[in-house]
Amino acid sequence: MQRLPIKHCRECGTSVRYRLPDDGDTRERAVCTECATVHYENPLNVVGTVPVLGERVLLCKRNIEPRRGKWTLPAGFMELGETTAQGAARETTEEAGAQFEIEDLFTVMSVPRVGQVHLYYRARLTSDVFDPGHETLEARLFHEHEIPWDELAFRTVRETLQRYFADRQAGRFGTHAFDID
Ligand SMILES: [Zn+2]
Repeated sequence: MQRLPIKHCRECGTSVRYRLPDDGDTRERAVCTECATVHYENPLNVVGTVPVLGERVLLCKRNIEPRRGKWTLPAGFMELGETTAQGAARETTEEAGAQFEIEDLFTVMSVPRVGQVHLYYRARLTSDVFDPGHETLEARLFHEHEIPWDELAFRTVRETLQRYFADRQAGRFGTHAFDID
């Protein structure tokens, strides 16, 4: 999922070349060969939730690539104009059609290999009826012993679920910031 290099200038459409800009910047950037616009590429935020009803956690079976058919927590790319919590709530509505109340920030994971930061909020489900969107084949609740650990779509999901069950066992939920290689 590493992003592809930029090929064309966003301002004028001319091809770009990766080089050090002339302003003392120490990283190579995509610089337009015609109008000299410098294109900055920065990490994207992925926002989601750990939706819980009593003892059970809601997972969604992905209907889209990558990892179609694998299970995930509801999450997706943050949109312009929304907060992280709003984005997490939107993704939970879109992917699961769940009724819920968003709670505290739970995990913050830097994933430098793909240039992303993933943020998960805890969410308290208020109904066990789901209406998943087209990105989801199935949305269902799992007890801890039912979690399909070998069929999870992403390491960020696995790490978040592991911390969720560990915190629940300990009787106290914190906020966990860590890095994924
Ligand atoms: Zn240009």
